[in-house]
Amino acid sequence: MKARLPLVAIVGRPNVGKSTLFNRLVGHRRSIVTDEPGITRDRIYGSAEWLGRAFEVVDTGGLVPEEKAGIPGEIFRQAQLALGEADAIILVADSRTGPTPTDAELVRQLRVFGKPLFVAANKVDSARLTGAASAFFELGEPVFPISAEHGLGIDDLLDEVTREFPERPAAVSASQAVHIAIIGRPNVGKSTLLNRLVGAERSIVASEPGTTRDAVDTEIEREGRSYVFVDTAGIRRKARTKLAAEKLSVVMARRHLERADLALLVADASLGVTAQDASIAGYAAEAGCSMIVVMNKWDLALERARADEKTKTLSPAELQNEYEKLVRARLGFVHYAPIVFLSALTGEKVTELFQLIDRVAGARRRRVPTAELNRWLSEIDLSRSSAPAAQMPEILYLTQASTEPPTFVLFTREARRLHFSFERFLQNRLREAFDFTGTPIRIVVRTRRRAAAGRARRG
Ligand code: GDP
Ligand code: GDP
Repeated sequence: MKARLPLVAIVGRPNVGKSTLFNRLVGHRRSIVTDEPGITRDRIYGSAEWLGRAFEVVDTGGLVPEEKAGIPGEIFRQAQLALGEADAIILVADSRTGPTPTDAELVRQLRVFGKPLFVAANKVDSARLTGAASAFFELGEPVFPISAEHGLGIDDLLDEVTREFPERPAAVSASQAVHIAIIGRPNVGKSTLLNRLVGAERSIVASEPGTTRDAVDTEIEREGRSYVFVDTAGIRRKARTKLAAEKLSVVMARRHLERADLALLVADASLGVTAQDASIAGYAAEAGCSMIVVMNKWDLALERARADEKTKTLSPAELQNEYEKLVRARLGFVHYAPIVFLSALTGEKVTELFQLIDRVAGARRRRVPTAELNRWLSEIDLSRSSAPAAQMPEILYLTQASTEPPTFVLFTREARRLHFSFERFLQNRLREAFDFTGTPIRIVVRTRRRAAAGRARRG
């Protein structure tokens, strides 16, 4: 019999960031949606993993407190079921407003369940704002400053929430569908590319449970593998005015990225990479999505280059090289993303894009065993990083905490942040050694003292 995974319930007042936190923890890996009578909004379940511990998450969402009555009774009636099953509860609060009477009332009522309770003081978007979280200590429960939107402080919160959970990695099956978001500015060729990718294959159109009602996904099977193109209706939607279209492209990108493993950032090669392409790429990086940069309309770019005195003698390969340098310079912060040049209109190189998608999707789910990782670590020359020697941590060992995206925990002798260039060095070496193509790599630093304390507590 398959043992039940531990369940973490997310509760809190509306607008504090519960669903943002839920999305950050589970991405698209939401499994069951219950639609029980008397519950106004669906309860959404998803799966997550931290430090080799798999668990389920439920967003109790849509719970309206009766502010006037002072007691958020409705919150409880609706969330009761989830809370009864939960192994840990995260109460999300808004650090900008400080603890409200409703938060205090929630804490009092949550204690009745006798479950470990953690207060996540959300919207602490920079280290400078950490102080705002200390006001929540008055609630009498452990407080964690986090930014659900920017992914800050989540590791400390998860360390504590999952501390007592059994060590059991999440099962990822190779047949699990890859969720793909096609993002980019208006007119770069997103719909044309979608039609190419989906066109020849047998496709199933289905709405994804637990998402906005108008989001319609398209799932295709290709050579035994499944791909889900997120919100295909949204990709095809066109806005009336140019300004509205620009704005819509950003809103859509952010929404689509929440449910995607992989982003295809489409840009127009005949125009080059613009500032807005770069900011859309930034959202994909922030969401932890893997990414492939698709320089579309390559047919048009080549045609233009042939008509230009400066470039007409260059071969297509040489041109592509020159282009790639320009694209890299503009998108330096997403250095992990491979770049492809293709034409959605003619279909040229579209098959190669599928092969690259497979490789990137595989990389995202890769798990490197701890022994192998440390054998590798002992063999690389850490002094080759450009970080100042005095800033180099004394490394004890490295372990992969989770996949999707690959997240590593580096245990060091003393607590200190990694120097930026050392972090980059480790990420690049890991990417080369284990073929983590196209995926961001996260590295979290822990001191051994804390890890040992954790082990002792688990007994
Ligand atoms: P819920 O009603 O509790 O599920 O809240 P949502 O997750 O829908 O978030 C409510 C609003 O807060 C949205 O506009 C989010 O973009 C915003 N939000 C969520 N997390 C953060 C954060 O870490 N920082 C900031 N500045 N805003 C956030
Ligand atoms: P979207 O707004 O990003 O979805 O862009 P569309 O897919 O609607 O494409 C915008 C325009 O660019 C249309 O006129 C397409 O025919 C054209 N287009 C798309 N891909 C290519 C391509 O690879 N080469 C050329 N020359 N034109 C393309």
